[in-house]
Amino acid sequence: MKDSDRKTLTNDAGIPVSSDEFSLTVGPDGPILLHDHYLMEQMANFNREMIPDRQPHAKGSGAFGYFQVTQDVSAYTKAAVFQPATKTEVLARFSTVAGESGSPDTWRDVRGFALKFYTTEGNYDMVGNNTPVFFVRDPMKFQHFIHSQKRRADNGLRDHDMQWDFWTLSPESAHQVAILMSDRGVPRSYRHMNGYSSHTFMWINAKDERFWVKYHFKTDQGIENLIQEEADRIAGDEADYHRRDLFEAIKQGDYPSWTLKVQIMPFKEADTYRFNPFDLTKVWPHDDYPLHEVGRLTLNRNPSDFHTEIEQASFEPNNLVPGIGPSPDKMLLARLLSYADAHRARLGVNYAQIPVNRPKSPVHSYSKGGVMRIDKVSDPVYTPNSKGGPKADTERYPEVATWSTSGEFIRAAYTKRKDDDDFVQAGTLVRKVMDNAQRDRLVSNVVGHLKNGVSEPVLRRAIEYWRNIDKDIGDRIAKGVDLR
Ligand code: NDP
Repeated sequence: MKDSDRKTLTNDAGIPVSSDEFSLTVGPDGPILLHDHYLMEQMANFNREMIPDRQPHAKGSGAFGYFQVTQDVSAYTKAAVFQPATKTEVLARFSTVAGESGSPDTWRDVRGFALKFYTTEGNYDMVGNNTPVFFVRDPMKFQHFIHSQKRRADNGLRDHDMQWDFWTLSPESAHQVAILMSDRGVPRSYRHMNGYSSHTFMWINAKDERFWVKYHFKTDQGIENLIQEEADRIAGDEADYHRRDLFEAIKQGDYPSWTLKVQIMPFKEADTYRFNPFDLTKVWPHDDYPLHEVGRLTLNRNPSDFHTEIEQASFEPNNLVPGIGPSPDKMLLARLLSYADAHRARLGVNYAQIPVNRPKSPVHSYSKGGVMRIDKVSDPVYTPNSKGGPKADTERYPEVATWSTSGEFIRAAYTKRKDDDDFVQAGTLVRKVMDNAQRDRLVSNVVGHLKNGVSEPVLRRAIEYWRNIDKDIGDRIAKGVDLR
């Protein structure tokens, strides 16, 4: 570029500035003058560049792309985004959970798999993970779980002792911990992992018939993972390994894709299924509920400004469009409230007006005012009104995303069913899905983790926890940590 083609530097008000090198002083050696407001603007903006980390899922990467429907699932949902041949623009963000925004991508952790579909009926967000289950099934425990995975109060250090203390006192975590300690606990890249809704959702078709569904985004790149030694080395060499991989792949035209498949449970079957189908610590076995293809997600565009497009991206499970609803999963029901609240705290009440969060379909709401409101509000500012303001179309959009229930207000676990057991699915994973080499690596990963600062009696409880998952694996772990 020729020098004459370069743009003239201005301040934030668009006024040309006379120097980008020298502050305004009294003589070359003199004090800086207070009215050098351009210098002040530079310093003040810099001081305010960082925004609070997400709590959790602080370290992440993202890209844009599209979702193309390939199969006809209109018998199950009327959602515009899933109608035959529909193509919808999508934003994806992948993340680790416990680390801060600069933490290594290859630390053992669950990975976030968050999607925003810019549909014709408003934004649809699916805020999932790379595992089909979660550590807890009641939102009352979530905050404590995250605290136990992050940093201690006294020395500010991560602490395996508090992680295992929480897990072993919360046996419902066994399935997720078994997956976390398996090969899938460190994906080779964000491109080489699956994404799952984990939660059960409701689908509603054009006849207002309801179904329960679970989403599986299967990577078309194939599942690939890092073994612990590779992951440890990379964590030291290149903390941003997964961020770089995603960006470079897309830059080179090697667009990653995932095939969306869903498991579908008839509405009434949920009442009698052998375990609670809304329990977030359980999968639905494929033999009971096979996968049905829906379409393909492809990522083909990198962000051009990481801060405005990825750091400020807000995903919220409550963004459910007509044809998709929640389920009685208590974790999901709490997330419907907490995500939007987190965005208000972190980005301000008008976060939905940040371009990356803005729906592509029109917004006709009565929200007004607030810090950093961009969109102008017009009269009438209230409803009901006789002035032609927006009005709910109850006939077209009836509230069908519901289920019936009754009972006293209580604080209690889900009612236990025949096959409800905290350890059974973790045991199936270890015994039936893993081969010998995978089991060896599982034992080695757990032993390595437990040997790193886990004290009695937590260690003893951890052995019992693993024996409950699988007696042989528990015995091998006990041997590995010298506790028989
Ligand atoms: P299947 O044999 O049909 O499914 C086993 C599934 O396990 C595979 O399809 C694969 O899921 C997944 N898998 C393979 N290795 C690992 C690993 N190291 N960590 C986590 N998942 C892995 O049996 P079932 O459907 O009866 O499930 C058996 C067990 O498999 C479950 O208890 C659960 O632990 C695990 N699983 C089941 C899933 C489900 O939705 N049914 C999903 C994921 C895991 P994928 O094809 O999604 O890659």
